[in-house]
This record gives sequence, structure tokens and C-alpha cells, in this order.
Amino acid sequence: VTAALAVTGCSTRGSSGSGSTEEASGFAEDAVIGVALPDKTSENWVLAGQLFEDGLAEAGFDGDVQYAAATNTVPDQQNQISSMVTKGAKVIIIGAKDGGQLSSQVKAARDAGAIVIAYDRLILNTEDVDYYVAYDNEKVGELQGQALLDGMAAKKPEGPYNIELFSGSSDDANSAVFFGGAMKVLQPKIDDGTLNVVSGQTDIKQTSTAGWLAKNAQDRMDTLLAANYSTAELDGVLSPNDTLARAIITSVKAAGKPIPIVTGQDSEVESVKSIMAGEQYSTINKDTRALVAQAITMVQQAQKGEEIETNDDESYDNGVIVVPAYLLPPQIVTKENAAEAYANDPTLEPLTRQ
Ligand code: BGC
Repeated sequence: VTAALAVTGCSTRGSSGSGSTEEASGFAEDAVIGVALPDKTSENWVLAGQLFEDGLAEAGFDGDVQYAAATNTVPDQQNQISSMVTKGAKVIIIGAKDGGQLSSQVKAARDAGAIVIAYDRLILNTEDVDYYVAYDNEKVGELQGQALLDGMAAKKPEGPYNIELFSGSSDDANSAVFFGGAMKVLQPKIDDGTLNVVSGQTDIKQTSTAGWLAKNAQDRMDTLLAANYSTAELDGVLSPNDTLARAIITSVKAAGKPIPIVTGQDSEVESVKSIMAGEQYSTINKDTRALVAQAITMVQQAQKGEEIETNDDESYDNGVIVVPAYLLPPQIVTKENAAEAYANDPTLEPLTRQ
């Protein structure tokens, strides 16, 4: 490890950085700022769009917020980014629909002088991404893996435990990171026999959920139950997010089985209700308000020509460069700490009052 690589903490991406970003020199206070979001696969994306609209307007920018939702395809987002470049956007914030298919659009953006910020999902296989702003995705996975173990142990102190594993959509760079974080915790327990994945499906290709769609998780759970659990008891399911957790629970209920420990992510309203009702076991608190606010802070720093602050310049290798990142800390939430975790959330806090 070279000294340069070992440096953590605040930094900026200047002309000496790994990409070709020029030293920031600022831009007009009312500049166009593009925000290209994926489709609305979870509540956090819906909320992010509104928060970007409001936050950018309040900061004086001309925000152009788009979802890849016209035909729900990658070309939707590619076209939206191209049109933001044409409009002269100074910063383009992208929550990628498919992180591996934006290289020509982000190259055009950089060539036109825009700063490219990957939001929540990393953009892969290109040097044309300046920054990444997200919750610590690997930590999310670790928290999910640990919650699965804790939840099962609380119900039944002695293993072995029968479990099944789900991961997210393979076109989302986060999916492998969430799964990798969870498997860091679970794999040793699979190896020592504490956990038994009854279906034998432990590979990310076998566990993935195309498009993050609830229907796909529910269908897979139906199949897993029919094939492996006619007599065996299912103790736990690793679910990468809340939408899929509820689909898994729906499947288990339809099969007339007791609800296992099921993890989640995103603190969706229906899942927080489910947790308080004792059905879903856990979720992750990744407050979208804080993430959008951080992204807008980065835009403001760029506008003033200041250094754009990052706090992790080592972890997010996109296949071509290591993208300087600003990571926020995720928090595990169960019934036990929900009231405290959502104390400052006007939507979720009331749901935790028992
Ligand atoms: C986000 C998750 C979300 C998933 C599906 C991921 O990229 O990080 O919070 O659950 O997309 O929308």
C-alpha cells in the first residue's frame, strides 16, 4: 500500500487525481443540475426525486430531475443524461438504472465539463465518474447478516438453522456489495454447520432478484418452499430490501408456514408497520433526506469552486478507477430500537408508538 493510497479523510479530486477532472473553478449560482434516477423500485427513490426537486430549487439551482420510467429501460436513462448534457448541466447526479451501461453518456458529460456524481449506486467500468455519495453498502450487508443471526438466536437459542438467501438485481452494483457484506458474516456459519441453506442456493446468480421486483422474489420463495420445506422448518431468510422482504413473507403465509426471521432495508412504511406487528424482523435506516442533502452539499461546494469533500477514497473500485466517496453510516432497525431510530422522522416515528 503506497502512502497515497493509505490516505483517508477529506480530499478532493483535482487535476492530479486518477481521472481527468479539472480543478474546480465554480459555476453560476443558478446553473442547471441534472438528477437522473432509476425506476421507482422502492420508496427511497420516490422520496429522493421530491427532495432533489425541492432542495435544488431552495439552493437556487435549476434542477432537472428525471426518472428512467418512460419505458422502464436503460435507454430512458441514457437519453435523459444526454439531454442534461445538451442543456449544459454543470453537475449530473445519477442513481444508475444499470451501472454498467452509462459509459458513453458519462463520458459526454465529462467532455462537456460537467461533474458526474454517482448517487446510491456506483457507475461501473468507466473513468468518467468524479464522486460517489451513498450509505456504506458493505456495512448494510453486514448488518443484515448479523440481524439474521441475532433474530434466529433470539427465537431459538440453539442451531442449526435452516435459511434461504436472496440478493438484489444483478444490474445494480449495490446488489453484490450488499450480498458480499452479508456473506462475510454468514459464510463462516454456513461452513461450521450453524446455518444450513436447505436449497443449496448460495451463489449470487442463484439468489438474485431481477429488477428488484417483488413478484420475482415471491415466485422464487414459492418454488423454494415447495421444493425444500414440505417437512423442514425455515428459520430465516436474508432479504436485501423491504419490498422483497414483504414479498417473501407473503409467500410464506400463502404456504401456511410460520413466518421466519426476515431481514430488509430502506425503512419503508409497510415494513416498519410489519416490524412493529412482529412479522418482518429488521430493516435498515438509510435516511434519504440525509443522502440527498449530502449530494446537494457536494453541488454547492462545486458551485463555489471549493474542494468537494469525501471521506472514503479507497473502497469503491468501479473496475477502472477507485471513485472517491462520501459514505453515510447505515443503522440496523428492529422492533426494539425503532422508536429511537425514527425519532426525527415525522412519517415513521408515529408508527413506532405502541
Ligand atoms: C438501493 C436500495 C434499494 C434498491 C432497490 C438499491 O440500489 O441502495 O436501498 O432497496 O436499490 O430499489
